[in-house]
Amino acid sequence: MESIEKLIANNRAWADALKARDPEFFAKRENDQAPHFLMIGCSDSRVPLEVMTGALPGDMFVHRNIGNQVYATDFNVLSVIQFAVQVLRVEHIIVCGHSNCGALRAAEQPAGMGILDHWIAGVRNTIRRHRGELDGCGSEDERLRRLSELNVLQQVGALSRTPTVLDAWSTGKRPLLHGWVYDIGTGHLDKVVEAIDGVERATALLPTG
Ligand SMILES: [Zn+2]
Repeated sequence: MESIEKLIANNRAWADALKARDPEFFAKRENDQAPHFLMIGCSDSRVPLEVMTGALPGDMFVHRNIGNQVYATDFNVLSVIQFAVQVLRVEHIIVCGHSNCGALRAAEQPAGMGILDHWIAGVRNTIRRHRGELDGCGSEDERLRRLSELNVLQQVGALSRTPTVLDAWSTGKRPLLHGWVYDIGTGHLDKVVEAIDGVERATALLPTG
């Protein structure tokens, strides 16, 4: 996929195919959205959140950043979470990490990448906290895979401590929090944690490293 024109041509073909199946497909979505899911994933080009889950327009509210991070100081992700929970009233929030993540690989290296070092500081903290377990992994692949799970658990934990989620839980069980890891080599999603619906389960998420 190298041509800008090809992207536009593909878009027209995609829209035409959906309209052929349902002539009102786009018109029905024009004025409103009511997604059931918020997905927070990595910006990696090999991890297309809607494509890999078969989501159609209107199914999924999406936020992506490098390493699928949920920082308590990031107005971007916090705004997305607030809008998704309070306005769209999503039932599920999924943090989706993935295998062979460049952000996690970078966090294993010494600092020296400018602003990216600030962005992945949380991953470096996760590595420090779980160094014993990670050092016990049998191979680099196994270590990176486990780090992707620990990173997802860390972000689900951070999600559970956001004011928006705590407010929502004070009046009910919605939203349910989930953590997944996507395997780039197979195209498969695996659950790391599912259906967290309160502070107690959320605080028990991470093993001590
Ligand atoms: Zn990544």
